[in-house]
Amino acid sequence: MSRRIFLVAAAVFAAMLGASGGVRAAEPMKVAASFSILGDMLKQVGGDRVQVFTFVGPNGDAHIYEPTPADAKELSESKILFINGLGLEGWMTRLEKSSGFKGTVVTASKGIIPHKMVEDEKTITDPHAWQSLANGKIYVANIRDALIAADPDGKASYEANAQKFLDGIAEMETTVKEAIAKLPPERRKIITTHDAFGYFGAAYGMEFIAPESVSTESEASAKDVAKIITQIKKEKIPAVFLENVTDSRLLDQISKETGAKIGGTLFSDALSPPDGPAGTYLDMFRNNIATLSEALSS
Ligand SMILES: [Zn+2]
Repeated sequence: MSRRIFLVAAAVFAAMLGASGGVRAAEPMKVAASFSILGDMLKQVGGDRVQVFTFVGPNGDAHIYEPTPADAKELSESKILFINGLGLEGWMTRLEKSSGFKGTVVTASKGIIPHKMVEDEKTITDPHAWQSLANGKIYVANIRDALIAADPDGKASYEANAQKFLDGIAEMETTVKEAIAKLPPERRKIITTHDAFGYFGAAYGMEFIAPESVSTESEASAKDVAKIITQIKKEKIPAVFLENVTDSRLLDQISKETGAKIGGTLFSDALSPPDGPAGTYLDMFRNNIATLSEALSS
C-alpha cells in the first residue's frame, strides 16, 4: 500500500470512529406513521429527536393504500410504527410482514371509546377517532409514552413537547365549541361523502350524514344516494361538504339534484400539504371549523 492511500484510509477510518462515537447520540430516532395526521402528531411530540416517515401522505386515502417497496425499506429501518388502529389500515399487516419490521407497533387510538355503528345488520367500528380533540389528547399521550419508552434520554423533551401540543388542543376545543354554539341548531346537520365525522358530531353536537360508509373501500349504492337525496329534501339539510380525500362527483350530483349548496371542502382523513390550509392537526380543525361556520351561519 502506498503511503498516500494509507493516509486516506486512515482518515476514513478516523471519520467512521468519530461518527460512531460523537455523532450517533444526536442522530434522530427513525419512526414511522401510517398516515399524515398521525405523522404530524409524531413530529410535534418527537421534535428533533425523531425522524418521521409517513406512508399515506397529504390528501391521501388511508383506508385504501398500495404500499411500495420504498415503504417496506423505510419501515424495516424504523424503531416504532405508529398506527391509528380501529380497522383503518387494512393494508398494514402485509406491509409489516414484507418489510421484516422488528420494532414496536403502537396503536395511537388505544384507550379511546370506540364509536360503533350498525350497517347492513353488521356492527362496524368507526376508525376516525382523531376527529374528536378529546381523543386527540389520548393519541398525544400514547405517542409521548411510546417515545419515552424507546428513548428514555428524551423524556424531558417529549414531555415538554407533548404538554405544549396538549395546551394547543385544549385551546382548539374551546374554539370549536364556541363556533358551533353560534350556528343555528337547524343548520347543524350536513352531508359529507363518507362517514368520517361521527366522533366530531358526537363531541360537538352536529350530525353528519354520508352516502358512503366509514370506509371509502366500497362505493355508495344508487339506493343509498337516492335515500340521501330524499332526506336532504325532507329535512331541508342546508349544505353538502366535499372532502380532501374523496372524489367530488358524487356530492356535485347530490347538490345539483337537491339544491343543497356545496359548503366547501373538509379535511377528514388527511392533512393538506404543509403549505396548504390544513398542514397540521390543529390547522385541520381550524380550517374545518372556519369552513363549517362560513357555510352554515345564516
Ligand atoms: Zn375515512
